[in-house]
Amino acid sequence: MRALVAALVLSFLSAPVDALEVFACEPEWGALVSELAGEQARVTVALTAFQDPHRLQARPSLIASTRRADLVICTGAELEVGWLPLLLRRSGNPNVRPGAAGYFLAADYVRKLEVPTRLDRSQGDIHPQGNPHVHLNPHNITRIARKLAQRLAELDPMNADVYEQRLDDFVERWHAAIVVWENRARRLEGLIIVPHHRSFTYLADWLGLDVIATVEAKPGIPPSGAHLSRLLEKLNVVAPAAVVRTPYANEKPTTWLAERLDTPVLVLPYTIGGHEDVTDLFTLFDTTLTLLENLQP
Ligand SMILES: [Zn+2]
Repeated sequence: MRALVAALVLSFLSAPVDALEVFACEPEWGALVSELAGEQARVTVALTAFQDPHRLQARPSLIASTRRADLVICTGAELEVGWLPLLLRRSGNPNVRPGAAGYFLAADYVRKLEVPTRLDRSQGDIHPQGNPHVHLNPHNITRIARKLAQRLAELDPMNADVYEQRLDDFVERWHAAIVVWENRARRLEGLIIVPHHRSFTYLADWLGLDVIATVEAKPGIPPSGAHLSRLLEKLNVVAPAAVVRTPYANEKPTTWLAERLDTPVLVLPYTIGGHEDVTDLFTLFDTTLTLLENLQP
């Protein structure tokens, strides 16, 4: 932790005076900005891996950060609908208002999965625009990186060359990493998992994992006793390899279910900082694959 604080202070000190002030809602977007902007950006990240991105308090320090931001980068697709609009209103910063160049929503640039055919908020579904947890497919990261580099150049044209060069460098390293990950992924195809929330839909889609059920009855709705009993009955027949959750999810229902199924609970990192080995986007996928591989008999 001390090293991390030291590194943050150092990056602050070494950032040029004209560096962009960036406010990232989630750690994955803070990490992507750092890949593409390097010291040309001073990044503040609102959430840690141990906080639910669907829910956050719009506390004064976050309002202060958005007030001085040149760029706000978040997931969108209503992931932060419970707190970001309020934060932006309170900041009073016209440069990062929805529609402004300083407002960037990553999910706008990828194809969403699990888009409901019929919108019914009365049932409390917190994924009304489709699944917002888009960052766990590395191909989505590539698409978003390209759009983000363009946006950085638009906001800071003096350094447009820097962003273009860093994008090329990142994409080259990222594609090389994807080749390695997809080779490893062949062994994982068809692995049966039961996530707590639909946090790993894009990961499962990319790796060919079999999500046969979720612990929640609907996204954001805690499971009732009746739902858990039905789930138990169903899963006793198919035997999942693990019940999977994020570092921030309530551990009770996953533990309850895993104990009765005699199957492990697997906490996947989900984002930067969600596991001690996960310090950037590359180690996020490296570690996620390693943890899934370790499930194999
Ligand atoms: Zn969600």
